[in-house]
Amino acid sequence: MSESNELIHLQPVFHEMLWGGRRLETVFGYQIPDGPIGECWAISAHPHGDCRIEGGRFDGLLLSELWDQHRDEVFPGACGDRFPLLVKVIDAAQDLSIQVHPDDAYAAEHENGSLGKRECWYVLDCDEGATIIVNQNARSREEFAHMVEEGRWSELLHELPIHPGDFFQINPGTVHAIKAGTLILEVQQSSDITYRVYDYDRPDKNGNLRELHLQQSLDVIDYDAPAPDSGAVQAPEVDGVCVLEENDSYTVERVRVSGAKTQRNESPFLCVSVISGEGTICGEAVEKGVHLIAPAAVRELALDGEMELIVSHV
Ligand code: ZN
Repeated sequence: MSESNELIHLQPVFHEMLWGGRRLETVFGYQIPDGPIGECWAISAHPHGDCRIEGGRFDGLLLSELWDQHRDEVFPGACGDRFPLLVKVIDAAQDLSIQVHPDDAYAAEHENGSLGKRECWYVLDCDEGATIIVNQNARSREEFAHMVEEGRWSELLHELPIHPGDFFQINPGTVHAIKAGTLILEVQQSSDITYRVYDYDRPDKNGNLRELHLQQSLDVIDYDAPAPDSGAVQAPEVDGVCVLEENDSYTVERVRVSGAKTQRNESPFLCVSVISGEGTICGEAVEKGVHLIAPAAVRELALDGEMELIVSHV
């Protein structure tokens, strides 16, 4: 079977969240269901939101089916038993819970073989004065548990101001929370394992409190993780390309396009998200809000126009 060089378009999956809003519709023009919609799973093969392919040779297949049935044609050289990345847009109209994620080893043992969750955030937009929580100030399990018990949240949590264009890498074990008034592009391992530390004692639409997972949180928190002072991007931009993060799970780049350029691809796939402007990718017209996968056979991604992309791959 010959390799496929078609760009892969996907139907996003939307998730209602008690902290969600309407900006996925007002800012990106997505057709979203009624209610507070918090997340657009734009590129996902996770069972909690498996995207369906739209158009082309693989029209109608789920991304997980494409991975299982056509891996050698579309993603030659890819390893693992599932499409490894998940790309989301998050609209936080209210604060997300204070949470932490396990690493692969803990998740494999305690969560039915799931992947752990390493994630990163690119701040697309935020309200004036918006903040975020990345890391915490206790240096041991005992100290953390004690501060939680006494409800000393503001002392415990490391909160910092954010600005559009900021970037944060969130490793497993790092306590974190996206706060109200924030629109974020998230690239993460394909996992949905979240341990909630604190949810502000707020009820959901049925009047119930969401479950907390303090014991698991205490198990997985990295008490030595360094806390960032800001999310300002320090990495250099070379020919429009800035490598925001590179680790064992993913590489994430911001690509600024002004005119024609090509972006080399040496990975089994590229996840491409257009975060501003418009132009073309391999001759196809795209605009802000489009997400697609370029398969391995696209060795050179031909880009043209005036736009900004987030490109992520393994
Ligand atoms: Zn998270």
